[in-house]
Amino acid sequence: MDLFELTQRLMNIPSTSGEEEAVGYWLRDHLQSLGWSVELQKVSENQNNVIATLNDAPRVWFSTHMDTVPPFIPPTEDDQKIYGRGACDAKGIIAAQITAAERLRAEGVTDIGLLYTVEEERSSTGAKAVNLHPLAAKCEYMINGEPTDNDLAIGSKGSFRLMIKTCGKAAHSAYPEQGDSAIETLLDILNDIRQTRFQHDGFFGETTVNIGTIEGGLALNIIPPRAEAGLLIRLTTKREPIEQALINVVRGRAEIEVLSCSEPVKMMPVEGFNQKVVRFTTDIPHMPNWGRPLLLGPGSILVAHTKDEFVLKKDLKEAVGLYEHLAKKLLSPTV
Ligand SMILES: [Zn+2]
Repeated sequence: MDLFELTQRLMNIPSTSGEEEAVGYWLRDHLQSLGWSVELQKVSENQNNVIATLNDAPRVWFSTHMDTVPPFIPPTEDDQKIYGRGACDAKGIIAAQITAAERLRAEGVTDIGLLYTVEEERSSTGAKAVNLHPLAAKCEYMINGEPTDNDLAIGSKGSFRLMIKTCGKAAHSAYPEQGDSAIETLLDILNDIRQTRFQHDGFFGETTVNIGTIEGGLALNIIPPRAEAGLLIRLTTKREPIEQALINVVRGRAEIEVLSCSEPVKMMPVEGFNQKVVRFTTDIPHMPNWGRPLLLGPGSILVAHTKDEFVLKKDLKEAVGLYEHLAKKLLSPTV
């Protein structure tokens, strides 16, 4: 099965976060048919990480995630591109890594592992589970794949997800002095957050805030007793100073509920590769036991998570060579 066919076979199996069971079984069967030892690590009732090896304890691993964002978009292709859900995030990457690993094996290199996680697009429960796997201790380098346009990412921003919740007092809307609008309080707080300049970092860049969701109120003729907004802050510093700044802005007017946090990560630079900092986060912060992390993959993050997701065939091919070269370099005694 060639690289493009493998990409499309993987894309044809829907695997929105929470529904990765079928693609995990398919990958297990495929890798076993190629001669890999494959373990399914149970993460939940119907979610399994896929862990494949050629020897007892590989030093270099390729990894990415099997889940995609919704909705499922079946693959199509033309001369230059493969389109559809997972083309670049991250089924094309799985295909490129397997192809690179098979090439390495053909050259006699067996010190390679493959690790495919569930749930990366939501809460990284797959990565958190595999972080405790015994093979982690033997891993020296983990080459994670996300769409970096085939550049080597040497830094990725963190992600701090939280809710701001306000409480007011319901009243007849004709008598606003009898109530207290939770929506107006929330709007004031959100406006203050928009005016705030959060701490930045010279290496990772700007800390940015997305007010991603907003909800509240009961009816047009009721002063709203409740409102909430969901924020995702792209961290370039540790969580603490940003959380403190937020508490200072909110000044007791709302409850801050933290949903999750992953801090920014520095990754290993390697000579001979284009290097850059990426703004998105990955499974890497949740897998500290898996050696030194590296991050590289074909495709653009700007089309990932969109209805127009695609990957250039030439980028997929190039990624195979880059993964192969990177693994060899890491396995060579001079690194
Ligand atoms: Zn991804």
